[in-house]
Amino acid sequence: MARYKTYDYRQRVLLPVSLEDQLMPGTLEFAIHTLVEKRLDMSVFDGKYHNDETGRAAYDPKILLKVVLLAYSRGLISSRKIEQACWENVVFIALACGQQPDHSTIAAFVSSMRDEIQPLFRDVLLVCEEMNLLGGTMFALDGCKLPSNASKEWSGTFSELHKKKQKIEAKVAQLLAEQMQADQNEENPPEPKGSGKNLQQQVKKLQKKAALIEQWLAKNQPKIGAVGREKQSNVTDNDSATMMTSHGVVQGYNSQALIDAKHQVIVHGEASGDGQDHGHVPPMLTGALENLQRLGHEPDYFEGKIFTADSNYHTLVNLQKCQELGLDAYIPDCRFRNRDPRFTTQKRRQVRRFTLQDFHHDEALDQYICPNGKILKLVVKRVLNRGHLYRKYYASETDCQICPLRPRCIYGVGAKRKQLFVPINSLSHQMVEKIQTEEGRRIYPQRLAIVEPVFANIRINKRLDRFTLRGKIKVNIQWLMYCLVHNIEKILNYGMVYG
Ligand code: SF4
Repeated sequence: MARYKTYDYRQRVLLPVSLEDQLMPGTLEFAIHTLVEKRLDMSVFDGKYHNDETGRAAYDPKILLKVVLLAYSRGLISSRKIEQACWENVVFIALACGQQPDHSTIAAFVSSMRDEIQPLFRDVLLVCEEMNLLGGTMFALDGCKLPSNASKEWSGTFSELHKKKQKIEAKVAQLLAEQMQADQNEENPPEPKGSGKNLQQQVKKLQKKAALIEQWLAKNQPKIGAVGREKQSNVTDNDSATMMTSHGVVQGYNSQALIDAKHQVIVHGEASGDGQDHGHVPPMLTGALENLQRLGHEPDYFEGKIFTADSNYHTLVNLQKCQELGLDAYIPDCRFRNRDPRFTTQKRRQVRRFTLQDFHHDEALDQYICPNGKILKLVVKRVLNRGHLYRKYYASETDCQICPLRPRCIYGVGAKRKQLFVPINSLSHQMVEKIQTEEGRRIYPQRLAIVEPVFANIRINKRLDRFTLRGKIKVNIQWLMYCLVHNIEKILNYGMVYG
């Protein structure tokens, strides 16, 4: 007969557990623990607590920060899940030193770090600097658009939101009328869409929605875009924006990061409710410079340093900012691949389109001659397009419509006659020519290897697929926390964590 070892779940076991021993050197939890204990200036939190004489003792911000950073590194962004981890996961239990902060404490801690997050980010950056992780020769800027805790169904211009409210009110009136008719016609009652309690609940819900829109419209002002047109507002989070991404339209934030090339350390991060990338170069460079100055660098730190950003950032304001800081910038325009011979084998580029260089400028008459020998006349002397000033030359409609070279001519799908945009500002033109040089074609593609691993790490490894907070300030805190985790990982992998 088989014999097995006996077991008894009622037995009592006393296990000696050292919480510190659970934090093994060489792990991220150990790096977070060591940095928070030894290198981060946590006194920045002290002013927020006023419980020295009355009130109960608060959770130490060190405990909360460590737990949140580890949770973000493991893809736990929900404060309820972080709370659960502090009860169930031995590493979290060790890092929290056996304490179990609840989800509201964790959420309130993250949301309230407006003034503290930047100093903490700089403290970690200083450690990166001391460990020689910052190369300081080349920087790349990019951003990713992430949904946030805001509903895109509650977006629209003020007139659209007014219409939405009227529609809801009309629906309420219709439901009430149907119910009234049903009550009056007791002998042969028609079927109302909702009935009894359900109908009352539905009406209440719709009335609440209409009241919410009305209150919101009364308190807020329309958002006006750069060209003077009204932008979409959002009732749930008005700082967020409706953004186009490769996965469709999202309501959220554009998270920007400026990255040092040597070990892909983030030197500045910022989340913004502006779906377009082109407005971010000045604030990102200014923010990075401020961070680097706090580390002891001079205001002319960026002078002569290489800076790359993709064609979404190619605007006059951005180029001027780079020039002002003395950066050796590489920001191509959106047609740069069409001019690059290395891309001619790409199927969609096999028919090379004409570019400005294919048009001959007749200086005496200030007109252009196209490759078909036809004249393009100056029609608009100054036109602003994506922050750049252009002169606009038009071909004749009759010439273009019968032209055999039309499929190869400059873009302008559906345009009856071709329009040639000639940049007035030399900065843009200089940049176009700089990108076309051998040096430009060697340096610019390095951007991909600098920025993409960073966003892949945060979005895929750290599973950041949406922000859970509302408002620019809070979302910015969350984004900087992810940047912090990324930089701490760099310290762990390439630097040395104090034992
Ligand atoms: S399409 Fe018009 S502008 Fe282009 S080559 Fe022909 S005639 Fe010239």
